[in-house]
Amino acid sequence: MLTRRGRILRVGSTRELKAEARGLKAQWIECRGCVLMPGFVDSHTHAVFAGSRVEDFEQRLQGRSDEQIAAAGGGIRHSARLLRQATREELTERASRFLRQFAEHGTTTIEVKTGYGLDVANELKTLEVIQKVSRRSPLELVPTLLAAHALPPDYEDRRGEYVQLMIRRLIPAVARRKLAEFVDCFCERVAFGVEDCRQVLNAGRRCGLLPRLHAEQLSRTGGSRLAIEVGAASADHLDALSDSDIRALARSDVVATLLPGANFHLGLKRYAPARRLIEAGAAVALATDFNPGTSPTLNMQFILALACSAMSMTPAQAIAAATINGAYALRRAHRMGSLQAGKQADLIVMNLDDYRKIPYYFGWNHCLTTVKQGRIIYSVEARR
Ligand SMILES: [Zn+2]
Repeated sequence: MLTRRGRILRVGSTRELKAEARGLKAQWIECRGCVLMPGFVDSHTHAVFAGSRVEDFEQRLQGRSDEQIAAAGGGIRHSARLLRQATREELTERASRFLRQFAEHGTTTIEVKTGYGLDVANELKTLEVIQKVSRRSPLELVPTLLAAHALPPDYEDRRGEYVQLMIRRLIPAVARRKLAEFVDCFCERVAFGVEDCRQVLNAGRRCGLLPRLHAEQLSRTGGSRLAIEVGAASADHLDALSDSDIRALARSDVVATLLPGANFHLGLKRYAPARRLIEAGAAVALATDFNPGTSPTLNMQFILALACSAMSMTPAQAIAAATINGAYALRRAHRMGSLQAGKQADLIVMNLDDYRKIPYYFGWNHCLTTVKQGRIIYSVEARR
């Protein structure tokens, strides 16, 4: 592959490209015996957070339910408390460290959601942190407003008021300052119902924020139908889909984004119906859902292994889902997600001679080199 000025110039055999490469005085990156592939596009993360939820993890393993953990002060509200206490500098420093880890594991583009601020000031603070980190990092960040993640404790019996706060104040402020590209909601019995989500997503849409939605994770609430109705870029999780939901998604342009890391971490037996979605004709994407509560991994290679072993996707389907379909889910497929002339040179070199071995040798980091827009941003050699 020959790249120039951050873009893929030509793809072909070494023999075909050699003369032109010499003419351009190209820098040589040795890939012989390795897999060269597009960088991962992680289209669903919550990568700005403070602290961890390791206490919740241990409590759950001791048999406590999520309701008991939340009643004892855990859950999303715990993360919200910590985020509100954290300074912008602390959050920026933490997120920057995560981004270096993303790059080391082969991810070159990352969607990042808010959702631990849960008030106007702290949701804006989170978006400002994403903007700052994005300017410092060679990775591309895609910011999403997810103020409808959980009901803040101070609005316990005033759900409607919180929805109005998002619609009247937060969404217009975010749009005016161009701090987010997408708006998202957690559509679930324990969070926000279909009607609340419809109002928030449509309000976002009117201000120029494109909808995406957490849908049918713990129970079937009709979120996937809402995603289709509002023209969402993506409906995410989808563990509790009905057969007719699958058919409806397959007929729509909504990407079905599956997040098996959450099922794994929570010890759930049920995973999203990946094969049935693919066989019906839906576009399936995979993402880490990197977050402190339900999926504390940022390693897309492990997500590929789960997609194959727990959801019976083939290695080729899993790789497509983690690259080009992730790019579709972020409305960026025209410029990333595959190795085609004209697209951004977002590439990774994997220390394996067969792409099927990426999910086969699970739990390792196979990434040797990460290239973002033609520039080496991580290399194992450089670290030695
Ligand atoms: Zn999520």
